[in-house]
Amino acid sequence: MPEKRITIEDILKSVHKLDAKKEALIRSAYEVALKAHTGQKRKSGVEYIQHPLHTALNLAKIGLGSHTISAGLLHDVPEDTETTLEEIEKKFGKEIATLVDGVTKLGKIKLRGTKEELYLENLRKMFLAMASDIRVVLIKLADRLHNMETLSHVPPEKQQRIAMETLEVFAPIANRLGIGEIKARLEDLSFKYLDPENYEEVSKLVKEQYSQRKKYVDKAISELKKELLREGIDVIDIYGRTKHTYSLFQKLKRHDMDINKIYDLVGVRIVVPEVVNCYETLGIVHKKYRPLVGRIKDYISLPKPNGYQSIHTTIFGPEGKFLEVQIRTKKMDDEAEFGIAAHWIYSEKKQALKDIFFRNKKTVIPEKDIAWVRQLREWQNELGKDDQEFMESLKIDFFKNHIFAFTPSGDIIDLPEEANTIDFAYRVHSEVGNRATGAKVNGKMVPLDYKIRNGDVIEILTSRDHKTPSRDWLRFVRTSNAKSHIRRMLKKKGLL
Ligand code: MN
Repeated sequence: MPEKRITIEDILKSVHKLDAKKEALIRSAYEVALKAHTGQKRKSGVEYIQHPLHTALNLAKIGLGSHTISAGLLHDVPEDTETTLEEIEKKFGKEIATLVDGVTKLGKIKLRGTKEELYLENLRKMFLAMASDIRVVLIKLADRLHNMETLSHVPPEKQQRIAMETLEVFAPIANRLGIGEIKARLEDLSFKYLDPENYEEVSKLVKEQYSQRKKYVDKAISELKKELLREGIDVIDIYGRTKHTYSLFQKLKRHDMDINKIYDLVGVRIVVPEVVNCYETLGIVHKKYRPLVGRIKDYISLPKPNGYQSIHTTIFGPEGKFLEVQIRTKKMDDEAEFGIAAHWIYSEKKQALKDIFFRNKKTVIPEKDIAWVRQLREWQNELGKDDQEFMESLKIDFFKNHIFAFTPSGDIIDLPEEANTIDFAYRVHSEVGNRATGAKVNGKMVPLDYKIRNGDVIEILTSRDHKTPSRDWLRFVRTSNAKSHIRRMLKKKGLL
């Protein structure tokens, strides 16, 4: 299938509350990206600029602001073109440059090893990004979504690896951030490459069932609408929705692959203004159509762990057939689709959000009303169970006291706050520590007592002949690991 070409105008049309200032910023980011990527092509043969354009469009569609959209347009520039991060910072300022840099760094981390390892490795990586700025993760998701949409153009082996990563790491992250739409699309695209046979079968099933069910659902919608209007409910929207392929497949597996046991293949969604209207609507729906016992779920009073809110009920609809109805407010509807991004749209407390996204500013995170912050915490706890060491690092308050740095080959090294390059060297390997003669951080030489910052790429220079640590190091190392190795070696040499 040929890739759909889009233009900057498509993005501008999708920007939430576009104004002249936002438009100017986005256009200028586009100009820089266009110029930088000139002559480059995607594997599909289309101009490279289509990739950042699609990435930016995905971001605009989930309601993100002009800074994030601009960073989305520029996200592959420092890595793949002659234009440097410094030039981006000069032109667009620190905020956008930091976002672009964050995405570049995420892209450099190796995803390899066993399934479990891969999973954890990625999650650590994501945490790192979240800890500094959650928007970096959103750009990465938007980037991955377009890469998945164009995956048919890469070699089969790579397809498998990328699809696996997407299903096991990126889709769950989208889910955790509550971005249902991106999660579902990532899952369906991965499913297609990882299990083509079942994908075909389920897609076929959906197609057949859908056309049958469509007429029925349309009829149900018109009857429900009439009833709700008569009762004075201000219906914002009422529409039919189809289950996504991958989630349907998961459900089919639990129900002997029998499509007739799936009641929510095509459902009806009713969107109303206020929470109180949701319950009124539920009453009206149940008065008209008898509900199925045990199928009423009130996720408004008891939201799902990722913050999802709605009322679900299965009714004996017109002609006595099962029909699932979901009832929610406009705000809940947006949040279900856009996840945390919806907070940009709904939050009036802009500063409060900023405090969360820039952890380095020493502010107390206002947890009130922000369910997903709590969610991130729970997520960390859940994860930690699989990995003792990780769990321990979480105990020391993940967000506050930890620094993550990279080796030049992309391995993650976690260190306590104020750690320096010698701590880093010993964390990599005791021999690297013992033989250390110098260090480069992000390509530049630094003194050995350089205090590492989150996301630094650190190269330890070693010498074969040099096998003895310096006594001086004991004055500044932070980790007990480094201290004990240095002492041991000095004692061995009779220097301590
Ligand atoms: Mn990219």
